[in-house]
Amino acid sequence: MDDIQDSTQAATIAALQTERDQLLTLLKALPDISFVLDEDGLYVKVLGGANEAMYANGKSLEGHTLSNALPPAVAETCLTHVRKALHTGEMQTVEYQLRVADVSLLPSVIRDCDQYQTEQWFEGRALPLPSYNHPKPVVLWVAINVTPRKQLERYWREAAYSDPLTGIANRRAVFEQAEHEIDRAHRHHRPLSLLVLDIDHFKTINTQYGHAQGDEALRQFTQGCVDLLRDTDFMGRIGGEEFVVLLPETDQVGAQHLGARVVEAIPTLDVPGMNHGHRMTVSIGAATLLEHEGFEELLRRADDALSSAKRSGRNRLRLGER
Ligand code: GH3
Ligand code: MG
Ligand code: MG
Repeated sequence: MDDIQDSTQAATIAALQTERDQLLTLLKALPDISFVLDEDGLYVKVLGGANEAMYANGKSLEGHTLSNALPPAVAETCLTHVRKALHTGEMQTVEYQLRVADVSLLPSVIRDCDQYQTEQWFEGRALPLPSYNHPKPVVLWVAINVTPRKQLERYWREAAYSDPLTGIANRRAVFEQAEHEIDRAHRHHRPLSLLVLDIDHFKTINTQYGHAQGDEALRQFTQGCVDLLRDTDFMGRIGGEEFVVLLPETDQVGAQHLGARVVEAIPTLDVPGMNHGHRMTVSIGAATLLEHEGFEELLRRADDALSSAKRSGRNRLRLGER
């Protein structure tokens, strides 16, 4: 009888061991790196990370803690999420940035690699791991390298909001930023002004020197303006040779002052490829935000002022009616 019981038990143990080995092999083969972390942030076990192009070998972290291995802010974020997962019993997800070279417990052969010198993005998932053979409660922390996705997102966001010719904000970005700034100005009762700029006789530049030269003139014009702006000013291209500048914290006097400097500066630009005697000029309409006014109305007033500047001879600034 005992013999039968013993052999059944032995078979069960063997089956469990096989299952355990299979699971361990499976975990080892996981492309994303995973850690068994206890409630104090101790790396109990390092698993997975088979995708070597995305993950450094983390074996050397076993037996050390998050706070010994990682920069303080990242260690703190991770530990908070480990504890939250243990406290709630639910999976916690967090995104964090990390430079692998800053993981002080990795060997220098890894930390010195070129690919680990830049910040990467990781998505951490912490899931409580019950019945694990360790004196303290543990979670399984899966760290997914989401850097390529983040880079793509950034690329598309920038492409959607910038003007490819000049590199500054495009029309869509201008309208979003304007709504945001106008909201802020009304909320805090702060001044805000707008300049609308249109290059004078731009068609002649195209006709005389060709379209590519016209493009270069647009780039030079943009740079000429940007050089005169403060960091908080926001310039965008809203049409072919039409631009706007949003001026937060700027009243009518400030807007008039800056606008006048732009009008003065543009004819001093030497656009490569254009005759030395050919001076580019600009006309500007300026308007300052009125109480309860929205962007559409502010833009209309600045546009009317621009038309007035064009009618009265170009190469000048006009203020919008109040
Ligand atoms: P005004 O003084 O009245 O503003 O005259 P203008 O010739 O500047 O006025 P208009 O707005 O009629 O002409 C703008 C020209 O800008 C027409 C268009 O061919 C040119 N343009 C628009 N976008 C681009 C661009 O991306 N590159 C180049 N090179 N030219 C452009
Ligand atoms: Mg125009
Ligand atoms: Mg023009």
